[in-house]
Amino acid sequence: TPHAQTATLSNRSLVDLDRAHLIHPVTSFRGHEAHGARVLASGDGMWLTDIDGKRVIDAFAGLWCVNVGYGQESIVAAATEQMRKLPYATGYFHFGSEPTILLAEKLTALTPPGLDHVYFTLGGSDAVDSAIRYITHYFNAIGKPAKKQFVALDWGYHGSSSTGAGLTALPAFHRGFDLPRPWQHHIASPYPYRHPQGDDDAAVIASTVAALEAKVAELGAENVAAFCCEPIQGSGGVIVPPRGWLKALRECCDRLGILMLVDEVITGFGRTGPMFACDDEGVSPDFMTVAKGLTAGYAPMGAVFMADHVYQAIADSAPPELAVGHGFTYSGHPVSAAVALEVIRLYENGLLENGVRTGRAFAAHLDRIRAHPLVGDTRGRGMLGAIELVSNKATRAGFDPALDIGGRLGKLTWDNGVIVRCFANAVIGFAPALCCSEDEMAVIFERVETSLDQLLDMPDIRSAVV
Ligand code: PLP
Repeated sequence: TPHAQTATLSNRSLVDLDRAHLIHPVTSFRGHEAHGARVLASGDGMWLTDIDGKRVIDAFAGLWCVNVGYGQESIVAAATEQMRKLPYATGYFHFGSEPTILLAEKLTALTPPGLDHVYFTLGGSDAVDSAIRYITHYFNAIGKPAKKQFVALDWGYHGSSSTGAGLTALPAFHRGFDLPRPWQHHIASPYPYRHPQGDDDAAVIASTVAALEAKVAELGAENVAAFCCEPIQGSGGVIVPPRGWLKALRECCDRLGILMLVDEVITGFGRTGPMFACDDEGVSPDFMTVAKGLTAGYAPMGAVFMADHVYQAIADSAPPELAVGHGFTYSGHPVSAAVALEVIRLYENGLLENGVRTGRAFAAHLDRIRAHPLVGDTRGRGMLGAIELVSNKATRAGFDPALDIGGRLGKLTWDNGVIVRCFANAVIGFAPALCCSEDEMAVIFERVETSLDQLLDMPDIRSAVV
């Protein structure tokens, strides 16, 4: 049988088959043919084992998603039970299923006030895409069809859908894809380390507010639908705005008469401490997207939350027999919903608290590692953080891209037995699972520090550092 064949494959042939057939996310086709993949075999808590038996500590929770750690048996049991009882129930034709309904109730109670309605997706990209579609539908429904322009932030990431990838502001997602679209605009990111008045929180906040006001004035408020942002920019390099920034932007959107879409795909579910980053500042957006931590990567699922005032306007806009034509076969998948309910139970039964506790140790390690000759900046909130490497601490100059700092660090950290995210712009991202202990956090930093020392020992790096 094909299954028996797979089981007898040598590890080498697995890597070769991957090279021949798999297109990996955001990966150079030729680069992947040359390198091949590191094939992972199993996981337990903070630890992963690859097919050669190498054990590494995962300081990035997969792709900032496995927030409960690997091997949580109660999630496996919840999924198995649901799959046995009812693996699928469509949400079309007025059908429903128990876990999906209970999850909707649970989540709308947990999310900021006003976000009373939820549409389930398969991940974050289609959650953002769904939000864009609903926002478009909303402005048509209320008789303001000109309001179609969207404003987002430089360094933002909002997924890979053909609409969301244009709100994303990372060049790799635009190159060759004819993006951004003419209705997608970007303003400067609140990036304190790279901001002329970065030490002055109020100035950083004021500059984003002024940039949004200027962009909306340029486009005409009557043409602008929404401002879209992450509370902390993840894939742009874990850019942490000052506290009060999100609230100031909420007030600014209200003043300008535009909607606010907050993308909590990374920051949701305790990643920054509270259940949602919006909670920190008492912000209720008009739309909020989540994914990743919702099911902690054990099954695919995302969600878009819609404020009641938007929902009611859409509901009132058309005769009841007309459908709002947005829907996926797997929206509200019962197995994913059962997984999410159990994952949330784990968050509420100690994991969020543990994340806050270990988050304090994480912050202390970040502070300490600032003294390293390669480290220009460290930043973070809760269990989300980054180290930014520079060639000159005084001028904050980065590195020549030809030195491939990201690629070298990716290899060094793997060889030293730790997974972190090494961004091309010499930023090292951390997002350990919330189950991480203080001892495990110490192991992570020991291995990262060793990797930084080895990087600095490379002659061309040493000579590039001032
Ligand atoms: N939005 C944000 C803020 C993200 O970080 C991501 C993924 O990293 C997405 C959207 C897209 O989510 P997905 O990869 O599940 O489609």
